[in-house]
Amino acid sequence: MRLFSAGSAAGILGLFESPAARAETHLTPSYAVGMPKVTITNVKAIATAPEGANLVIVKVETSEPGLYGIGCATFTQRAFAVVTAIEKYLVDFCVGKDVDNIEDMWQSAYVSAYWRNGPVLNNALSGLDEALWDIKGKRANMPVYQLLGGKCRIAVECYAHASGPTPEAISENVKKFMDQGFRHVRIQQGGYGGVGTMELKPDFKEAGFGRQSDSFSDQHTYLKRVPKMFEIVRKSCGEDVELLHDVHELVEPMDAINMIKQLEQYHPFLIEDPFSPENMKWLKTLRANTTVPIAIGELFNNINEFRDPMVDQLIDYIRIHISQIGGITPAMKVARLGEWFNVKTAWHGPGDTSPVGHAANAHIDLAIKNFGIQESHFWSAKAQEVFLGCQTYKNGYMYINEAPGIGVDINEKEAAKYPIGTKSNWTVRKSDGTIIKP
Ligand code: MG
Repeated sequence: MRLFSAGSAAGILGLFESPAARAETHLTPSYAVGMPKVTITNVKAIATAPEGANLVIVKVETSEPGLYGIGCATFTQRAFAVVTAIEKYLVDFCVGKDVDNIEDMWQSAYVSAYWRNGPVLNNALSGLDEALWDIKGKRANMPVYQLLGGKCRIAVECYAHASGPTPEAISENVKKFMDQGFRHVRIQQGGYGGVGTMELKPDFKEAGFGRQSDSFSDQHTYLKRVPKMFEIVRKSCGEDVELLHDVHELVEPMDAINMIKQLEQYHPFLIEDPFSPENMKWLKTLRANTTVPIAIGELFNNINEFRDPMVDQLIDYIRIHISQIGGITPAMKVARLGEWFNVKTAWHGPGDTSPVGHAANAHIDLAIKNFGIQESHFWSAKAQEVFLGCQTYKNGYMYINEAPGIGVDINEKEAAKYPIGTKSNWTVRKSDGTIIKP
């Protein structure tokens, strides 16, 4: 009798039922059933340069026919090194593993070389990370931003780039972007990063020092020109447009501080990279002397580098090159930390971030509370033949392809038409030949 009772209780609890019988008696709704396991069958690097800048993409292929993911692994200046890291190490690390465990894959890949950090391995890791988010989105039949919490805004507010040889020419370019609906424009006089002094003849070239192709920056001229540029552009374009500028770590820290103080009267939206990553302690002095908003971080390798400037509220915008720090997974951690301290995002998004990387930027931009502003890039027709589903712009906003996953695909045949190159050395000197951080 006692045994019978025990058997009945066990039967009721389902202890002796076969899995099939249990499934029948305890009907689990389809949405609550775990998805079948999918494993990685291959990882490959796709390198292409449709606009001249080297772009590297990781493609993760899976055990489910037709299911794959792609991620941005673009380190333009050392693209072949990233390709080697992917082809020689990432393939062996990944094959046979579960595509669903993104955090575990990130953490284990990150430490798998023991010697970690650095742009080469972080970019390879980013390619894997973003590809796994792409796969997860495709499996869930949702764009990645939905997996990050859903939309916080209708679209991604962007800034455009206006440059030119004179402040007057820059003003005209700013007005063109304002006519297109942009409310934010970054202004740079002369070459990229504000070198801006190409017309002056440096002594090192006369002396045959370095290479004739080396760039030259006259720091004195630069420091005088930037406030003048702000004055003229502000006067010509009015108060409605937000102006941004990138110092590109080109000048001495105290000179940068003095220049930024002069810009205060033109109320810049943000000033980017006043110091190099080696000079972060200067942020305290800068903060004590001016209230101009500061963006920093595109050269940081490790998410821990953001902690102190964010927690101490020494910066206003986190300037991350997402593939440089290892992809969506670490970028989300930094973004969420920023929310605690009212530090906003301004992800790096030039032409040497692939369209896949731009989409990764935008998925995070859409999903986080503390989004600040997004850098824009307008892809050429060639690039859009290689990358399908590139972002589009309307009225100063970026819109992404709403397809499941990252929303961008790659045409490998088209990509192969534009091989990457090795000439990616960036050398900037003072007139006497001394190297300046570019
Ligand atoms: Mg920059």
